[in-house]
Amino acid sequence: MSLGFVPTAEPVSRLIEELHRLPGIGPKTAQRLAYFLLRAPEEQARALAEAIVNVKEKIVLCSACQNITEADPCLVCQDERRDRAKICVVEKPLDVLALERTRNYDGLYHVLHGVLSPMEGVGPGDLKIGELLARLRDGSVKEVILATNPNLEGEATAMYLSRLVTPLGVKVTRLARGLPFGSDLEYADQMTLTRALEGRQEI
Ligand SMILES: [Zn+2]
Repeated sequence: MSLGFVPTAEPVSRLIEELHRLPGIGPKTAQRLAYFLLRAPEEQARALAEAIVNVKEKIVLCSACQNITEADPCLVCQDERRDRAKICVVEKPLDVLALERTRNYDGLYHVLHGVLSPMEGVGPGDLKIGELLARLRDGSVKEVILATNPNLEGEATAMYLSRLVTPLGVKVTRLARGLPFGSDLEYADQMTLTRALEGRQEI
């Protein structure tokens, strides 16, 4: 990989390379961050490194809903007050947080960890779809709410899932159209999200 600069010491170029692999970090930014860390106090660099390692060591996926958690099952799945007949399917952990902030959803969740994207080579096997279907097998779930984002990939993923879930005799609903097309659940305000949830329609 050419980063368009003359590499310095090997540890520095290695750091630049690793930073460059993060989403949204181009070669220039990677370079800037690496030199920032090089000049930063050792405690700061160490704190960052430890935070990264900690996340990998302490955070697991909930074996039921696949959300990130320290305890398995996660706090939502453990909560006896949640309505176990409803599962809201979202793309990513941050969407669970957005829906929890509305305080208007009392069911369970299922995190897909992505959406179908032929362009980026993401197929059904790359998402937590088999895990979702396994949760529907015992018949206790009565409704699956598809809360993927209102964009092309989110809609395609919702359609794909509805074709798999409907034959199982489970009601499948989709968030109402209150969310602007192309938007992201993660950034939706609580009112809009609450209305989208309350106005969900069977598909
Ligand atoms: Zn869970």
